[in-house]
Amino acid sequence: MRSIELLDKQTIDQIAAGEVVERPASVIKELTENAIDAGATAVTIEIRDGGTTFMRITDNGAGIPADQVKKAFLRHATSKIRKAEDLVNIASLGFRGEALSSISAVAQVECITKTPEALTGIRYCIEGGVEKEYEEIGAPGGTTFIIRNLFFNTPARAKFLKAPVTEGNHVSSFVEELALSHPEISFKFIQNGQNKLYTSGNGNLKEIVYQIFGRDLTRELVAVDARTELMHVHGFIGNPNVARGNRTFENYFINGRYVKNKVIAKAIEDAYHGFLMQHKYPFTLLYLDIVSEKVDVNVHPQKLEVRISDQEGVYHQLCLTIQNALMNRERIPEVPLGR
Ligand code: ADP
Ligand code: MG
Repeated sequence: MRSIELLDKQTIDQIAAGEVVERPASVIKELTENAIDAGATAVTIEIRDGGTTFMRITDNGAGIPADQVKKAFLRHATSKIRKAEDLVNIASLGFRGEALSSISAVAQVECITKTPEALTGIRYCIEGGVEKEYEEIGAPGGTTFIIRNLFFNTPARAKFLKAPVTEGNHVSSFVEELALSHPEISFKFIQNGQNKLYTSGNGNLKEIVYQIFGRDLTRELVAVDARTELMHVHGFIGNPNVARGNRTFENYFINGRYVKNKVIAKAIEDAYHGFLMQHKYPFTLLYLDIVSEKVDVNVHPQKLEVRISDQEGVYHQLCLTIQNALMNRERIPEVPLGR
């Protein structure tokens, strides 16, 4: 038998990174969530080779103070919570303090950041958990992360990456979710040097739907808006004729997060019962703002799942809201375009 030893920090971080960083899209998710938490109003996402060799995320948010840049890359380092009780009322997307340490454990990371008050910015490079450079440089307010060669030091993980096209598609779908979840933020997505998506950040949801789903679908939307003490539901549902044979058209956001949830899916599908043929699933783009004490976001490391404590209340209100909208439906006039 070999003797028992504690793992070194680098190994621990590489293993932990497996929970957070599965593929380029997970890096984009973590870094864009950080940008949003930093109050950014404009975020540019650029990838090459599906993100496997190059990803750049630029935001105009709060930036990281110079004396905290290195600390931000430590495991469990966060500015967002101080103790477990804070999770009850969490307002930020991040809180685990794991993203930067995980990403920098398995990639080559360059971070350029400046707070509005600071005269100069900081450029910090860290590769595979090893510090490479730290210098003052001129920079605009906000933060840029450049991630090169994901899994360069963990070949076992690199093997699980799919072809760049597939990885790029994952990133692209995520960016669409992101744009839909934050109409108030301007997003620009550039893939292999080509502009793929631009949203103006003017808050007009229909403009974003048009960009992502196209004109035909935009003509088949029914607006939804209902508020109780438990939650505010708003957004759009599709006329029954635009249904699909799978659930990929069911989009919903709980408190700003794009999630999958059985209770919500059931409420949607039950509400459409009688309007749709069997094995057809509707288009929805629903925003559920549930009082934060009734939602636990601390279920899944990638936070795709949330736990709702008043499931029945949410189910009933959602089901009713959709049924009402379907019964009183009026087509929404065609979207004016132009940005
Ligand atoms: P978490 O988001 O869970 O706090 P991260 O590892 O993602 O953990 O980030 C660590 C910390 O670094 C954040 O709490 C935040 O203070 C800072 N940070 C990361 N990205 C940005 C950004 N784009 N703008 C400003 N601060 C950032
Ligand atoms: Mg984070």
